[in-house]
Amino acid sequence: MLKKRIARSLFLSYLWITLIAVISIGLYGAHMTRELYLQRTAKDLETRARLCLGPILESLDKEGGVDAVCKKLGRETDTRITVILPDGRVVGDTEADPADMDNHKVRPEIRKAASGEVGRLTRPSPTLKEELMYVAIPLERDGSYVAVVRTSIPVTEINQVVGKIRQKIVVAVIGVICLLAVISLWLSARITLPLRKMSVGAESFARGELEHRLPRASFEEINILAEAMDRMAEQLDERIETVQCQQNELEAVLGSMEEGVLAIDNDAVIINVNQTCAALLGMDPGELKGRSVHEVVRKPDLLEFVESSLSNESPVEDDILMRGEEDRWLNLHGTALYDAANRKMGTLIVLRDVTRLRRLENVRRDFVANVSHELKTPITSIKGFVETLIDGAFDNRQDASRFLEIIARQVNRLDTIIEDLLTLSRLEKGAEEQGNGFVTESVRDVLQASIQMCEKKAADKNINVRLECAVDLTAPMNGHLLEQAVVNLVDNAVKYSEPGSEVHVSAAKDADDLVIRVQDWGCGIERKHLPRLFERFYRVDKARSRELGGTGLGLAIVRHIALVHRGSVSVESEVGKGTTVSFIMPVNTMLTPR
Ligand code: ADP
Repeated sequence: MLKKRIARSLFLSYLWITLIAVISIGLYGAHMTRELYLQRTAKDLETRARLCLGPILESLDKEGGVDAVCKKLGRETDTRITVILPDGRVVGDTEADPADMDNHKVRPEIRKAASGEVGRLTRPSPTLKEELMYVAIPLERDGSYVAVVRTSIPVTEINQVVGKIRQKIVVAVIGVICLLAVISLWLSARITLPLRKMSVGAESFARGELEHRLPRASFEEINILAEAMDRMAEQLDERIETVQCQQNELEAVLGSMEEGVLAIDNDAVIINVNQTCAALLGMDPGELKGRSVHEVVRKPDLLEFVESSLSNESPVEDDILMRGEEDRWLNLHGTALYDAANRKMGTLIVLRDVTRLRRLENVRRDFVANVSHELKTPITSIKGFVETLIDGAFDNRQDASRFLEIIARQVNRLDTIIEDLLTLSRLEKGAEEQGNGFVTESVRDVLQASIQMCEKKAADKNINVRLECAVDLTAPMNGHLLEQAVVNLVDNAVKYSEPGSEVHVSAAKDADDLVIRVQDWGCGIERKHLPRLFERFYRVDKARSRELGGTGLGLAIVRHIALVHRGSVSVESEVGKGTTVSFIMPVNTMLTPR
């Protein structure tokens, strides 16, 4: 449907009403004016006829007298005057010669006048061949009718006058129409202006400018509407603010959650997603909202879980592996989402990154396997030799003594492993208590004591252990633990160095750190082993390590001792060139140990 503008419709309505009213009044006025003019002219003709009655009556008995009077009075009054005798003969006429004129007895106006009334008629004149208005009155003498006096005037004359009046009426009508059209235009504009202002205001509301207020008009109804719309905008603004606040709170809660949250409707379209979930899926939250989960999630396992969660009323749970640059294990928990009317509207999936837990689980499993394996080897050996002894080898003193020596070595080995395990366990469990026992001690004294502990092994391999440390260098520490860490490092350096080489132990302050370095020029370590070197039971060459009496726990103990001191360890090594292990611990910020 064609949309109309109120202003134009109002203007056109006003214009139509104006046109109909003014034209009707104009037509009626023109008609009435003509009627009145005709009546007035008829009355005038009658008056003129009556004025002529006297002179005509006087000349009635004179031969040709009536005609002369008619011609004279006719000229003077600019009226055609005709006198007709009762037998219809014309005896006088202003315009024509009565002798040439027809008998007028049957003319309607003459017949009416002959009956004593005033005969009025407008009809064509056979004599003058034009339309005339006739008024005929009887002429009486001594109470009896002797002739009819008729006055007449051409209708064209009347029409000319009426035409001029009509022209003036038309001009007046056009003038009035123009004036009323301008007034209509102004009126419709005045009525619609506040509406236009309101529509501009309503557009501002639609654009979200809800603090905008509509202008007031001089029309009560429009003002009521404007006030209602202002109130509506105000309430809308308040509601939007409340919703925004709630939304922000929800976003803040979801955003600060460590778990990923993914809300999906029944059509598998994502309703909401938090930053953690988007990061787990490797996308931006903005890219995910409002899109189908099938469109954005490329992981078949996750899609399968979403489908199962959507089709299940009860909670579902599963762990999936997300392959990527770094493989991640995700624990998924899906629960049905219900709306206010308690209808199922979708599902809420909570994603937890359990990669670390899984790793810890693996570490724990590996550790148990490693410990079992490490303990099993000496125990198997001890068991074997004990059985051999029981089976009779005991009788051979020489064999028995050799077997017992082996058994003693294996028992020592078991003792070392268990001692190392207990040390590790103590370090893990009691890091805090050990940290609390920090006292400022001389670093040189600790290093010297450590070197002394390894002196025998070094001397056996003719290895010179050199110490480089300032005498006054002190640091807050757990001296006993630090000594054990350095012993482990020097022991390794001696173990994996060729006889006759050198081991260098140094300590110095570097900014806020104390750095202890143990360097050797031994076999070195391949680069690929370096990242795992500080793991429990990790050994580059298992056989060699065992042969040298190693447990694979030495460096793990060093790392834990570094952690107790809120420090770290690092290793640099090159195959065939040697190894340097650095033990770094902060010395100024050790008030609260890790
Ligand atoms: P282990 O008791 O076997 O020495 P560690 O935890 O002390 O166990 O060391 C782990 C492994 O790191 C060792 O088995 C060895 O292969 C390697 N390693 C440690 N220190 C050195 C070193 N100074 N030179 C070469 N290899 C080393």
